[in-house]
Amino acid sequence: MTRADFIWMDGHMAPWNEAQVHPMSHSMHYGTAFFEGIRAYDTPTGPVVFRHREHMQRLKDSAKIYRFTIPYSVDELMGAARAVLNANNLKSAYIRPLAYLGEVGMGIVPPESQMSVLIAAFSWGRYLGASAIEEGVDACVASWARSAPNTLPTGAKAAGNYLSSLLIASEARRNGFHEGIALDSRGQVSEGAGQNVFMVKNGVLYTPPATASILPGLTRDAIITLAREEGIEIVEAPIAREALYIADEIFFSGTAAEISPVRSIDRLAVGNGKPGPMTQLLQQRFFGLFTGQTQDKWGWLDPVEVK
Ligand code: PMP
Repeated sequence: MTRADFIWMDGHMAPWNEAQVHPMSHSMHYGTAFFEGIRAYDTPTGPVVFRHREHMQRLKDSAKIYRFTIPYSVDELMGAARAVLNANNLKSAYIRPLAYLGEVGMGIVPPESQMSVLIAAFSWGRYLGASAIEEGVDACVASWARSAPNTLPTGAKAAGNYLSSLLIASEARRNGFHEGIALDSRGQVSEGAGQNVFMVKNGVLYTPPATASILPGLTRDAIITLAREEGIEIVEAPIAREALYIADEIFFSGTAAEISPVRSIDRLAVGNGKPGPMTQLLQQRFFGLFTGQTQDKWGWLDPVEVK
């Protein structure tokens, strides 16, 4: 069970067991909340938050897409997240900021646009299971598609979007897979329930474009950057379902899933069923950011002063 001592709630540290949101909150009834998933890593030079500024900016951008405002600057949100890590004595953690609407009435359009914000942090290990990173996971193509571009914008990390993720992931688990990959409304590869997808064919790295009903992940962006550094050719273009079946390598990327190799897709082995060389190279470069082996040339690591 996920637990910590304190949650930051609009400027106050609320004890975990006493933190409350009203049962008539707009967000609970209509899914009007935006959130982030951010990881803090304990590195040899102290704890750092990975791509902290970009995550907090994305939180504000998600709210903006729906014309809501978050009454804190990115710097204020980052300061609050660092305070939550310290209050909970956490050096490595999963950080969950959530912007929501409280008891503002039952009209679908709320009387004002300003949101409340909470930030929680807690320990969270391997999202897709203990062996996911080393051995890989079994994935399937979901029967549920991601929302079409002119329905719910997948570029906003909105709570309501995760009903789509729930359909995709729960169908996969019921059928004995670790995770599901959804197609977009045109039938092309979109993303996992909570991760972006990459595939390798003949030494080229492919990933669906931002227009494929995906959340353009910050891990995805980091992988594209690291791959370019390695001189790997990277193509952001539509991917056909059958291309997954004959891929040399497939992997998921995301804050929770980090880089998780996919060893089978719809019960067909991917390559030889083991994490492939490009996946392993990118894992090494990515995790190297947190061991000091990969130099952070991009300012992706936000240091947390331990108090
Ligand atoms: N797609 C979805 C639907 C997600 O929930 C996530 C996790 N936030 C991602 C992609 C990956 O995004 P990121 O790398 O920024 O965590």
